Amino acid sequence: DHPSLCHSDMPVPVLSFEVVPPRTDAMEQRLWQCIRRLAPLSPRFVSVTYGAGGTMQARTQATALRLKQETMLVPAAHLTCIGATREEIDDIARTYWQAGVRHLVALRGDAPAGTAYTPHSGGYAYASDLVAGLRRIADFEISVAAYPETHPTALSAQADLDNLKRKLDAGATRAITQYFFEASTCLRFLDCCLAAGITAPIVPGIMPVSNYDQIARFSALCGVTVPAWVTHLFERTAKNPELCRIAACIVAAEQVRTLQSHGINEFHFSTLNRPDLTCAIAHLLGARPASEIDS
Ligand code: FAD
Repeated sequence: DHPSLCHSDMPVPVLSFEVVPPRTDAMEQRLWQCIRRLAPLSPRFVSVTYGAGGTMQARTQATALRLKQETMLVPAAHLTCIGATREEIDDIARTYWQAGVRHLVALRGDAPAGTAYTPHSGGYAYASDLVAGLRRIADFEISVAAYPETHPTALSAQADLDNLKRKLDAGATRAITQYFFEASTCLRFLDCCLAAGITAPIVPGIMPVSNYDQIARFSALCGVTVPAWVTHLFERTAKNPELCRIAACIVAAEQVRTLQSHGINEFHFSTLNRPDLTCAIAHLLGARPASEIDS
């Protein structure tokens, strides 16, 4: 049976959201408006991405700490190995633990565009090293990245799967996947994970298409396939944002429904700090604000 949005007897999915730390006052206002819109959907956690360079890292910390202090949400702070010694990263982790931020997303990060990654001397080389380091500091909940279409610089799909297993064996509690467009790509990857003996939860990452041209460029950089049907669907939507939003909602909701029909019920949404698409998709999937359910 084809999964259907209408007449669906699927359970309400468990959702978590990714936000981006703001770079300006105006972006800060937009972020907190976004968080106020998303909070009533009772996400399992809200993750805050980590940029390269000092100021962006401080903004990640400020956002995660403010989420902890001012909301009932569970913040998950992204942390990368880039440009810092082990001691510096350990200090950031300790600050988080002391402030009550107990969920980290441990990543390697990327070198600046056009350059190959080389580990910082005295730093953590790979995400698996970072996970092991964080585990020595405190009993964090740790999420790591997984790649349904294989990380672009991995030697092979098997080597990438071995790496994911290393990260989980080092103490990560779950993996969040890179986004994808074909649900079947994700399902095949989950089968490979099971065959490799990976039992930790692997949460599919969902990227609603808020701007097709941007997503197409970004996908090429991170090795995500944009199928012809996606290109066709979003063709000529650049000047018609309403049409783009409608298509984006249908694509994402259908992805989730297809995965749900295979027993997956937890999803991590990239919001890019724009709540409208995520709220609309959540609504289609039956996830409604808690206050609306109460009333
Ligand atoms: P790793 O797991 O360390 O793997 C990186 C590559 O190295 C892989 O090809 C792996 O197979 C290989 N490898 C691992 N160990 C070894 C070894 N011992 N020897 C040789 N090769 C090895 N980036 C950011 O900068 N900030 C973010 O906030 C951010 N959030 C993300 C969230 C998600 C859900 C995802 C999927 C990605 C995110 N990224 C982020 C991007 C991520 O940093 C890049 O994809 C990066 O290139 C790899 O990070 P990783 O943690 O997967 O690295």
